[in-house]
Amino acid sequence: MTLGQFGLRRRDYDFPPFRPPSEADSLLLRVTRGCPWNRCTFCSMYKGMKFEKREPEEVLEDISMARELYSDRVRTVFIGDSNSLVFKTDELVRILNALHSSFPQLERVTSYARAKTIAKKPAEDLEKLFKAGLNRLHVGLETGDRKLLEEIEKGATPEEMVEAGRKAKQAGFEYSLYVLLGIGGEEKWEQHARGTANVLNQIDPHFIRVRTFIPQPNSQLYEAMEEGRFQPASSETILKETRLLLKELQVTSHFLSDHISNLVPLHGKLPEDKEEMVRLIDQVLKGLREDDLLREEMEARRHLTNL
Ligand code: SF4
Repeated sequence: MTLGQFGLRRRDYDFPPFRPPSEADSLLLRVTRGCPWNRCTFCSMYKGMKFEKREPEEVLEDISMARELYSDRVRTVFIGDSNSLVFKTDELVRILNALHSSFPQLERVTSYARAKTIAKKPAEDLEKLFKAGLNRLHVGLETGDRKLLEEIEKGATPEEMVEAGRKAKQAGFEYSLYVLLGIGGEEKWEQHARGTANVLNQIDPHFIRVRTFIPQPNSQLYEAMEEGRFQPASSETILKETRLLLKELQVTSHFLSDHISNLVPLHGKLPEDKEEMVRLIDQVLKGLREDDLLREEMEARRHLTNL
């Protein structure tokens, strides 16, 4: 067991098993275990784990343990697991205060959150959390298409996704949304791209992070694939979908494909880098049609994990 970049090994320290790639150097702190929703059909992350909130005193003990060892080295903290905002606001504020007083160099505290939870949370609570030093929220949009959101049992409508994004931005948070490329399979790529762009355009999040969907054992969509009820999108379809998504976006976000599962390394600021990113996709699409080796390499990527 290690603690982010710090290599902390203490039997009693409890930290989240999953975190965004951008939090690789962060101190990892767990305030809940598992996922209070745990129904998304593509997700296998917390299957079999009973959701629970940790005792605030226990979390504060973890903070003081980390402070003893690494007080001056901690610049960023990631709070897990999948939806820390279900924690009572005042308790979370207490934890945030402890983090900021324990780590004098602390610049950023981030957490995963569900859109539905943000949409339901009073605006004053969101402001309190932001003021206490929670700076960035990572939220799974996955798709903006209404039908697909229902099918994957995301538990939020496009309207709730938009409401959550606007509320979080209004409270001051940096807002980071994840899009799951290929989640509509071979059949629904176009509605997925258009619906997603539509929701993103209404939110204009600070970050749009794309992941390529790779069915995971222990998830409903994996079973559906095995039984022939879901046809995963081909590499070419995923690239066409990404291209359409980019073309449809009218945002000022950073667009990042910061995950090993992705087929093309796209990193840019919108709208200025849009055409450059589209050009890169076009080159790869051309390569796929003409180069068997490239096609094989792309297919190999589909065996990498996406979570
Ligand atoms: S994707 Fe997120 S919200 Fe959905 S089940 Fe997995 S952890 Fe929970």
